[in-house]
Amino acid sequence: MITVLKIQDEILSGIRDFLRNEGFLEVLAPIIGPVTDPGIRGAKQVAIDYYGAPFKVMSSMILYKQMAVRSLRKMFALSPNIRLEPVESRVTGRHLAEFRQVDVEQAEATYRDVMCLAERLLHYVCQKITGKFGEELRQLNRTLRVPKIPFKVFTYQETLELLRSEGFNVEYGKEVPWKEERAISAMFEEPFFIIDYPLTARGFYDKEDFNSLGILRDFDLIYPEGFGEAASGGEREHTYKGVVKRMQLTGEDPAKYGWYLEMLKDGVCPSAGFGIGVERLTRWICGLEAVWEAVPFPKVPGIVSP
Ligand code: AMP
Ligand code: MG
Repeated sequence: MITVLKIQDEILSGIRDFLRNEGFLEVLAPIIGPVTDPGIRGAKQVAIDYYGAPFKVMSSMILYKQMAVRSLRKMFALSPNIRLEPVESRVTGRHLAEFRQVDVEQAEATYRDVMCLAERLLHYVCQKITGKFGEELRQLNRTLRVPKIPFKVFTYQETLELLRSEGFNVEYGKEVPWKEERAISAMFEEPFFIIDYPLTARGFYDKEDFNSLGILRDFDLIYPEGFGEAASGGEREHTYKGVVKRMQLTGEDPAKYGWYLEMLKDGVCPSAGFGIGVERLTRWICGLEAVWEAVPFPKVPGIVSP
């Protein structure tokens, strides 16, 4: 574990070096607020009583990123998130109830721009780790190859076809389930992207492509070798009208999103970004069996621990 934590320390400093060199400013992440990210695939949010007001613990800081880029243009944060994932998720090796993401957002960027940023980030971190921690990786029995860029890109539709060719049937319009995510990931030796998710699979903040309605300008970055999802990202719906319409489609109550909708009325810039989970990145780099091995004080779904 000490070896893993040393590598993780270098991963974090590598991410920070890379993003600062690209002109991104690190900000402090919020931990609580009146609302949080509702697009969390079946996990439950945690509610707290904030001086009599109903508050949530952040499941992700997505809504705040749109506020931050309005003035900062390029920002990132190491954001702690709580998601009470279903207890069945403890066997995926990928789910914690408490985890951290490096959450990145850039004003006026397209999803393709931030996909390039994400692959260069991963490339940079891998180069740093293999250069400095070759011996430690060997101790962990891990052969890590620095991935070649650009990464392969598959559409969601192509992903379903690839899965079908291996005997997995995923219904169009749904997120790729855990088992199938692992299966598609195991088909490759290098990280790759899945783009253009259907509107019904994602939260209200991913932008719809107006040239192909029903398709979002978004992506997942997937680790190879069965490790599964690394990051999710996309362009943001930033218009007040657009967000309210999408909230109605996803069954969200706009009345709950007071400050966020006020901000949109006031006007925010178009932006794109992504969130990459720190523990999952550590797991992949170190080749660990489960994500809880990549965090000093793990909170595994359903397990009560310090
Ligand atoms: P999401 O907003 O659900 O796409 O989450 C963004 C990123 O955070 C994912 O791509 C993962 O790397 C990471 N992540 C999400 N949920 C969890 C979890 N339960 N445990 C560990 N990492 C997670
Ligand atoms: Mg995701």
